[in-house]
Amino acid sequence: MNQVTGKESKPIVIIGAGFTGLAAAFELIKRGKKVTILEKSKSVGGLAGGFDLDGVTVERFYHHWFKSDQYLMDLVKDIGQEENIIFQPTNTALLYDKKIFRLSRPIDVLRFTPLGFLDRIRLGLLVFKVRAVKDWKQLESLTAKEWLLALCGPKVYQIVWEPLLAGKFGPFADQISAVWFWNKLVLRGGSRDAYGREVLAYYRGGFGALAEAITAHLRAQGAAVLTGVSADGLRVKDGQVTGVETGAGILDADGLIITTPLPIAADLLAPHVPAEYTAKLRRVQYLANICLVLVLDKPLSETYWLNVNDSSFPFIGIIEHTNFIPPEVYGSRHIVYLSKYLPTSDRLYQMSQKELVDFTIPYLEEMFPSFNRGAVLKSYVWRADHAQPIVEKHYSLLVPEVRTPVKRVFISTMAQVYPEDRGTNYAIRDGKNVVTQMENDGELS
Ligand SMILES: Cc1cc2nc3c(=O)[nH]c(=O)nc-3n(C[C@H](O)[C@H](O)[C@H](O)COP(=O)(O)OP(=O)(O)OC[C@H]3O[C@@H](n4cnc5c(N)ncnc54)[C@H](O)[C@@H]3O)c2cc1C
Repeated sequence: MNQVTGKESKPIVIIGAGFTGLAAAFELIKRGKKVTILEKSKSVGGLAGGFDLDGVTVERFYHHWFKSDQYLMDLVKDIGQEENIIFQPTNTALLYDKKIFRLSRPIDVLRFTPLGFLDRIRLGLLVFKVRAVKDWKQLESLTAKEWLLALCGPKVYQIVWEPLLAGKFGPFADQISAVWFWNKLVLRGGSRDAYGREVLAYYRGGFGALAEAITAHLRAQGAAVLTGVSADGLRVKDGQVTGVETGAGILDADGLIITTPLPIAADLLAPHVPAEYTAKLRRVQYLANICLVLVLDKPLSETYWLNVNDSSFPFIGIIEHTNFIPPEVYGSRHIVYLSKYLPTSDRLYQMSQKELVDFTIPYLEEMFPSFNRGAVLKSYVWRADHAQPIVEKHYSLLVPEVRTPVKRVFISTMAQVYPEDRGTNYAIRDGKNVVTQMENDGELS
């Protein structure tokens, strides 16, 4: 990369071509700005990006949208791709005591026999109690555990919610904010059809294909989207950003939006800002995620989303993608994700692909008697070090502002979408909002 010098105008640089970075670029281009995105991976889409499965793109980490994901739907319309959004009823179930209980429709709650009748009613009524909360701030001082215990009682908490929190947040489970949990329930509860079934949305060709379509749109409008280029440092003069250091040279910058996880943003900013500022960025903790993707010659189950409420099983969720998007799209093969959130130091995170497959198959054989190792045609393992920010009590006090101490440098990341939880819909909302903020601050001129 050559240093951009002379009279040619300098671009606003965006670090990261996930959905936040792509949406920010879209917004800047609309305002007639020159934009360059730097993406260290070979492909765009970030956590929602895909991999090539024999000519078809599939997410590395399972993804869907909810019906209410309006920011996403609007962006898809803006690039003229709305006919590629598919809405599909799905089903959810819960594995408890080695049995699968369907939990898709309100009636399923009444049939959930691990709970006594009164507790089933308590579980069912939670939907209404959740909807009654109009202001998330009233939940900020509560943990999810405190809130759920008060709303549903100890039995419902112990059988339904505690294993889910433990599986998703491991050592942090008891610290998770009620706000996080409330939002999850609101989102899932609101994505239903007239029969009470959950309806989810997907992009034909996968989220990776959408990221590619947005990228093509941006490039057609003059943006540079450079993949395989990592931002390694910043150039700052008189308190204002002037460029970004990359392995391929220095890129002059008239402004900068960082969309990476906060610890990476902290590393980039550290030489140029007070230590207290980077300490604040590093204060937000994350868990990693590992996904084992199995490609099978027959289905594993009839369930799309199976929550595993059994601590003896090493994964929190079994997501059978082809019970959402038909197997015909993937050459009549069946795609199953086994997902676990964990610290990067966890033994499972360190396993090689072969170790992980060998470790996992016996659990699946025990859980699904019709499954055996011979059904596995292919396997893939994907890891993300910063997959889930830990949303603690009073998280609003931890969320960093989009402005940074360096002039014309802004950060917009997954950890800042609070009170919402991470998701591509909010990545798009915040990617757009950061540009509005830059404009309001007079830092786009
Ligand atoms: C297991 C899992 C399941 C999920 N399921 C869903 C779902 O069903 N629906 C949904 O909407 N969302 C889901 N999400 C969340 C969703 O993926 C994220 O909220 C969203 O993709 C975040 O986008 P982002 O652009 O903010 O961050 P990211 O996607 O993390 O993008 C940041 C980008 O920055 C790049 N980068 C990092 N460092 C550098 C550097 N130094 N130089 C250049 N580039 C750099 C990274 O490679 C990455 O591409 C899921 C996430 C996970 C982990």
